[in-house]
This record gives sequence, structure tokens and C-alpha cells, in this order.
Amino acid sequence: MAKTTVKKAARTASAKKPAVKDVELTAAQQRDAGYARIAEELQADAAVPAALKTLADDRRVTVRRGGAPASEGKCIVYWMQRAERGLDNHALDKAVAIGNALGLPVVAYFAGIKNFPHANLRHYRFLNEGLPDIEEDCAERGIGFVMRRAPHEDHERFFADVKAAMVVGDENPMRVPESWRVRLAEQLKVPFWTVDADVIVPSKLLLKAQYSGAIVRPRIARLMPEFLQPFENAAAEKRWRMPKGLMKDDVRADMTQGWKEFDRSVSPVEAWKGGRKEASRRLQEFITKKLGKYADDRNHPEREATSRLSPYLHFGHIGPLTVALALNEAVEKDRSLAGARDSYFNEVITWRELSVNFVRYQPDYDNTGCADKWARETIAKHDGDKREVLYTLEQLETSQTYDDLWNAAQTQMVHHGWMPNYMRMLWGKKIVEWTPNAETAIKWMIHLNDKYFLDGRDPNGYSGIAWTVLGKFDRPWQERKIFGKRRYMSSDSAKRKFDATSYIQMAQDLPR
Ligand SMILES: Cc1cc2nc3c(=O)[nH]c(=O)nc-3n(C[C@H](O)[C@H](O)[C@H](O)COP(=O)(O)OP(=O)(O)OC[C@H]3O[C@@H](n4cnc5c(N)ncnc54)[C@H](O)[C@@H]3O)c2cc1C
Repeated sequence: MAKTTVKKAARTASAKKPAVKDVELTAAQQRDAGYARIAEELQADAAVPAALKTLADDRRVTVRRGGAPASEGKCIVYWMQRAERGLDNHALDKAVAIGNALGLPVVAYFAGIKNFPHANLRHYRFLNEGLPDIEEDCAERGIGFVMRRAPHEDHERFFADVKAAMVVGDENPMRVPESWRVRLAEQLKVPFWTVDADVIVPSKLLLKAQYSGAIVRPRIARLMPEFLQPFENAAAEKRWRMPKGLMKDDVRADMTQGWKEFDRSVSPVEAWKGGRKEASRRLQEFITKKLGKYADDRNHPEREATSRLSPYLHFGHIGPLTVALALNEAVEKDRSLAGARDSYFNEVITWRELSVNFVRYQPDYDNTGCADKWARETIAKHDGDKREVLYTLEQLETSQTYDDLWNAAQTQMVHHGWMPNYMRMLWGKKIVEWTPNAETAIKWMIHLNDKYFLDGRDPNGYSGIAWTVLGKFDRPWQERKIFGKRRYMSSDSAKRKFDATSYIQMAQDLPR
């Protein structure tokens, strides 16, 4: 990780109690410190209305461009990118609070770009299915919703067309989407704030890359009471009226229509329907039918015992706070669910937010550079070990290995677009064994993961792959060939732990 030494206000993420000291800052920390300074300037800016200063003083908010809203502005724009929902969305709530404070209406804007990194028709169909729910939920709150798809999706054109007084965005820690936010902050002439809407504890409060689940768990737990709070979902006091002649695309039409050179090689999975409403339905179904047995059954891939919310969390059709509050409510009604709730929170909060932290603070999140020292050493020693079998990417992709359990998992991935966690771990460990080195393993795994999984291209995927290939967030185990000190998993031992025959059958029969 590139580091520089600078004098800075320590613990700048809260921007509340600066204390000057010498520390080594990574690039991400320098960025956080820069935004903390902009937030301080905003508080000192006499031109900024007091109500706005109060709204900026929120630990979910990052002020990326300060100053007062444009006086000739006609509305507040929420640029929706990751949190694709019109309800239970802190970024949208912030835009509404600003609009209400300034007496302005709010419009949410979604730009349908056609070159989202690694996304193909499968992902776009799911995303597309979520758009009508956003439009309906926004309308109920008096908020406008406009989607413009390529080739006329240009953000700044839209901000000018509706005369944005200021822009609010959400956060996305991945490299490319974060770079869009940085660029927009440089280009915009009006204020631009972002709101961390897809984590429970705002990710900048963890301050740096966290070493493991055990280390991050108590840190998150300490901050939880402040952030485990119900949503406002306030209505806009001034309803947005669409300016006459404003161009917008139909959210119910195929947004990819007419896009040449767009990747249509992976077909949509009819069994998964995107959207906030479907996510809410699945959440309720999980709570009533599966939560009670979650802790025991989650490692039984043949039992379909988990929530299957990962695609919805990925696209922001539901947020983790909504999920956590619903589980807490279930526990209030039935105390016996407390253990299962805690087990689920370990995944949806600890591991998920550790993954967001990983991508946010570790620039090498998608390559071997992120390995810890012990892992780097053991990989250097064992990367050249002779493999019994080496498969090509094509053989792996088309499930042509000697291992029937692995082939079933790969088939589930390709045709169903999803796989249970236990099988993802085994899937990855076998790829380590069947590829010539860690670099190839990580490259091919990211390719397959992001191409086929509906929840692919997500911080969870990069952390899961780093865990599998590089022992990230894990500990050293007993040394063995190929794996060195990295944890080993085998299909034979998996078959002793769950009913693999049922899983293999199920993976073949799953709706596609
Ligand atoms: C090699 C590998 C690749 C993975 N790729 C992805 C991916 O591309 N996208 C993705 O969302 N997850 C990925 N995971 C993490 C995990 O397998 C999935 O999130 C989980 O299987 C989704 O199923 P679910 O929603 O039913 O999970 P549940 O068990 O119902 O858990 C609820 C939520 O908690 C989070 N969660 C669960 N397990 C983990 C975990 N191990 N790490 C981080 N968060 C977790 C997810 O958001 C999940 O939706 C990967 C794991 C591995 C080992």
C-alpha cells in the first residue's frame, strides 16, 4: 500500500475532535482527511445556511464539495448509484431533509451506463427489474425519479436540465465507482455530498484496513447502538414536478435495447427477480421459515437455508440496516431466535462490513498484493509445487473436472447465478489446487465470480476470493503441499459434513 507521512488531524473520519499528530496515511486515509477538511470549511462558511450545516454534521455524510447550494437552483438531486431503492435509504433521506430545509423538491436520478465494469445482460436484467419499485416508492414520497440510459445518461447534463441546487450521492467503495465520485466532485459547480447508505456502521469510521473478523467485530459492536436506528423515510414537503419536455427513459422497458457491443453472453436467470419488493418478500420469508435453523443449517448447501439476499444487497434493492432491524423485531416477538439472529448478524454485519472495509482501504483488493506477510511467505514457498491436475479456464467454466461436487457448484453458478457460501469456499479452494499459481487462481476466480454471480462485482466477492486464495482474514494452518500454511478444503471432507448427493441433484434441478 502506498504510504506518505503527513501532519494531519487524527481521527478525521468523525471530523469532531481533531488532534494533531504524525501518522502514516494510506491514499484512502488521505482522501478521508481531505474530505474532513472540506466538512470543516463548510461549517465555517458564512454563506452556507445553518440548517445545512446541521445536516452535514452526520457521520454517514462525506462532504465532497462544499459551499452553499446554487441560489438559482430548482431542486435537490439524489444521484442514485449503489443504493437502488426509494425506501430505507439514508442518502435519499438526506436529500429529502435538505430539500425540506431549503424549500426545494427532490429528484432521484439513475444513469443507465452501458459499460459498468464486468457487468453483462444477467446483471442488467436484475437491475432493470428493480427500477419500477424505485419509481413507485419515490412517487409515494413526493420525490421524482428519472432514469436516463446510454447514450444520453450524462450526469452533468441532467443536473443542468433540472437546475440542481446541490447533489447528494451514495457511496460505493469499489475502485471505479469511487473514481466517478472523485471526478464528479472536481467537475461540479454545486455542493456534492455522499452518504454511506449500504452499511450499518459508516465505513470511514473504521479508519483503516482491519485485520480480521475477530478484530473488527468489537469495533463494529461499539458503534452499532448509534447506527442501528429506524429510517425516517420522510416525504418531500414540496413535490417534484417534472419540467415540461424533460427527457427521461421508461423504467419498464429494456434499458439495454439497441446497445451494440454490450455483453449479452450470459443469460438472465428467470428464477431471480430484482427489486425492493421482492427483496422485502424474501426477507420476510427467510425470517418466518428459515431463521430459526440458520445457525445450524447455513453450512448445509443442500438445505437452501440461507436468506439468498446477496444479489439484493449487492444492487442496493435492500440495505443491511433494514435486514438487521427486521431480525431484531423478530427476536422481540420470539426470544428463542436470538442465537440465530446473532449468527446471521455475524455474516451480514461483521463479514459484510469487513469486506467493505477491505475494498475501501486496501488498494490491492483484487490481486495478490493484499496478502499478509505469513501468506506471502508461504505462497512464495509453495506456488511452484507440482499440481496433480491443471485445468484450463474453459474446462473450469464448463464444469469439466473429475470432481462431481465441484462440477455441480460450477453448474449452479453458471446457470443459476448464485451459490451457497460453503460451496463458494470449496469452489475456490479447489481452483487454488488446479491452477499453476496464486496469481492465476485469483484472476480466474474473479473472472468467473463476476461474470456469473448476480451478486458478483461486490466487496464480498473480493474478500471471499482473497480469503480463499491468499488466506486473508484467516490464520496460518498446518503446512502442506500447494497450500503451504493456507487453509485446505477437500470435497471428500465436505461430503462427510453434508448430504452432497442431494446438493448435486439440487444444483442440476434448480430453475434457470
Ligand atoms: C470465493 C467466494 C466468493 C464469494 N463471492 C461473493 C460475491 O461475489 N458476492 C457476495 O455478495 N458474496 C460473495 N461471497 C460471500 C458469501 O458466500 C455470499 O455473500 C453468500 O453466500 C450469499 O448468500 P446469502 O445471501 O444466502 O447469505 P446469508 O447466509 O443469508 O447471509 C446474509 C448476507 O450476509 C453477507 N454474507 C454472508 N456470508 C458472507 C461472507 N462470507 N462474506 C461477506 N459477507 C457475507 C451477504 O451479504 C449475505 O447476503 C463469496 C464467498 C467466497 C468464499
